[in-house]
Amino acid sequence: MAAQVIDGKAFAARMHARVADQVTALRAGSGITPGLAVVLVGADPASEVYVRSKARQTVAAGMASFEHRLPSDTTETALLAIIAALNGDPAVHGILVQLPLPAHLDSDLVINAINPAKDVDGFHVLNVGLLGTGQSAMVPCTPLGCLLLLRDLHGSLAGMDAVVLGRSNIVGKPMANLLLADSCTVTIAHSRTCNLPAVVGRADIVVAAVGRPEMVKGSWLKPGATVIDVGINRIDRGGKTVLVGDVDYASAAAVAGAITPVPGGVGPMTIACLLANTLTACARAHGLPEPQGLTP
Ligand code: NDP
Repeated sequence: MAAQVIDGKAFAARMHARVADQVTALRAGSGITPGLAVVLVGADPASEVYVRSKARQTVAAGMASFEHRLPSDTTETALLAIIAALNGDPAVHGILVQLPLPAHLDSDLVINAINPAKDVDGFHVLNVGLLGTGQSAMVPCTPLGCLLLLRDLHGSLAGMDAVVLGRSNIVGKPMANLLLADSCTVTIAHSRTCNLPAVVGRADIVVAAVGRPEMVKGSWLKPGATVIDVGINRIDRGGKTVLVGDVDYASAAAVAGAITPVPGGVGPMTIACLLANTLTACARAHGLPEPQGLTP
């Protein structure tokens, strides 16, 4: 039987609407407008697209959007000064520095300069530690989006075998922590993992975040498994550039129980979760009740 297609686009649209409703209520009730500042250094075309899309959706949700576009030769001192100013700006509740940064800038240093309470990407070492120890944290947006899709599909994830392919700080590791917190039995696989198909074949849940086009094959999967494809890869197919995930969709959909498409799966969830995190950061900054139904 063909796998159920997990419609991340529709889920993200519902989430966006819930965020917008809560922003409207916040503005009407207390006159507070949540604000998100995005800092882009350089002119990486993919980053430009993300930043434009983030700004558009931030405004559509009723929030204030602040964009800081800096030349690629921006010095670390200048960038840190901008972050310090945003940390101190009461109109800014969330700060996102678009990655990757140009090579001359130390990403860890820059990210850790963000006030952790405004770190809506959840990459600050304090938020990483809070998540890893099961405490209330800002949770990275892409893994959070994956978790919300999985919970929506399965309800409780307790006891399920989950394999996360990839161990990056922005996807793989936080994803594994979130699944662990939801009581999955979690395996993290990476480029040095032996016999990857056998590892994947044990899993009830497979999250693929490797950046390798169509690497995971249907023949690797346990029949009925849920497949979350985080990958975004542009490849040439018959002279046209197409977007594919890290999973070979056609073969995987024939074996899986449910699967996210690319595009239209995890991608739209990332920005929806960013808006949710910004609203949460705003509520916390003003000592207001946490927004409902948006975060773990
Ligand atoms: P990274 O390059 O930082 O990490 C990739 C991980 O995959 C590494 O841990 C690496 O292992 C592992 N890996 C690479 N090749 C293999 C292999 N052959 N077998 C097993 N593991 C392998 O990527 P990101 O985590 O940043 O991103 C992963 C994918 O997700 C990309 O396609 C990216 O575009 C996409 N993405 C999508 C987002 C969205 O909004 N949907 C957001 C962020 C990312 P090792 O550590 O050993 O090198």
